Amino acid sequence: MITNKALAESIRMVDLNTQYYNIKPEIDQAIQNVIDSSAFIKGPDVKLFESELAEYLGQGVSIIGCANGTDALQIALMALGLKPGDEVITTNFSFIATVETIELLKLKPVLVDIDPDTFNIDVTALASALSPKTKAIIPVHLFGQCANMEAICSFAESHQIKIIEDTAQALGAQYSFKDLSKQSAGTIGHIGTTSFFPSKNLGAFGDGGALLTCDQDLANRIREITNHGSNVKYYHERLGVNSRLDTLQAAILRVKLRYLDKYAEARQKAAAFYDKALGNNHRIAIPFRSNDTTHIFHQYTIKLVNINRDHFRSYLKSNGVPSMIYYPVPMHLQKAFSYLGYKQGDFPITEQVCDQVISIPMHTELDEPQLNYITDVINKYSD
Ligand SMILES: *Cc1c(COP(=O)(O)O)cnc(C)c1O
Repeated sequence: MITNKALAESIRMVDLNTQYYNIKPEIDQAIQNVIDSSAFIKGPDVKLFESELAEYLGQGVSIIGCANGTDALQIALMALGLKPGDEVITTNFSFIATVETIELLKLKPVLVDIDPDTFNIDVTALASALSPKTKAIIPVHLFGQCANMEAICSFAESHQIKIIEDTAQALGAQYSFKDLSKQSAGTIGHIGTTSFFPSKNLGAFGDGGALLTCDQDLANRIREITNHGSNVKYYHERLGVNSRLDTLQAAILRVKLRYLDKYAEARQKAAAFYDKALGNNHRIAIPFRSNDTTHIFHQYTIKLVNINRDHFRSYLKSNGVPSMIYYPVPMHLQKAFSYLGYKQGDFPITEQVCDQVISIPMHTELDEPQLNYITDVINKYSD
């Protein structure tokens, strides 16, 4: 039924190209400056970006750049000094990195089912995941909306465990506590981690990541760990890694940070258009909005009701509308984690959600004709 070929061909899941062209002179200049200075490693832009991002997020947070969001998770776990066999509670519905890094350090991931509306960790199930070996919890702020931090903070406090917030999909989201105080995602727990993978809300032109913490001792330890466990060159205090944010990426991120609020607004505007156009489609559940958090729409993820997803996706594709499944397989059914001993049926909500979800185009450059076209195609679907 393609009605407008040029329009259909302009639609991308994520449109980094148009985003770049809209700020090209600034980005090109930033890149050229780094090349002219040859300060490729630990150049001035890295420190400047760290302090500008810290200022943006507030709470007196310290930012430590690193090579990617997966490293950030591993370094956070290392910084907390966890020992092999210690247990870390986390969500069963996330990108693999969250569980992978727990495993790499020989810690034990203890998975928890999710809330069917928010897709975030089900806080009512936390108590049953607890054991005397529990040392930390990693909530993931999935798709751009914060997990229930009020409940997670009080759980962590009463059991003396640490919180690492995986903020790879929600940098810039704001959480509101019951006492009406607001905090940026990633600055609430003991450590926050994030990713600057190109398609993330604040994306570099390659890999990048950061750790966030309001605890000065942790900040110092984290900085040492990212630098081979060293503070003074060739003197090593602890086991570390080599994980740095490139100066080139930091310079690009400094430019894009200035647009982050505008980008969030563009995503929210597209999401509001989708909500309105798809809200009456009784075969689709539009994303649930929690009252206690802003939603910055890293993804716009809908649930299909009585629709064959494969059939629906190929219909979308044949009409020029891309889509993705985030995520098709829950952590407990991944082959890599089979030895944990979980089985089909252990996490019924995650299993159902994995079968129902589909994410549709969401980025900062979606315009009204494109949104109109996408929602028109979706609403005209028949089996
Ligand atoms: C992208 C992502 C990561 C990993 O980030 P990389 O920079 O790709 O290593 C970790 N957790 C979540 C939830 C993510 O979405």
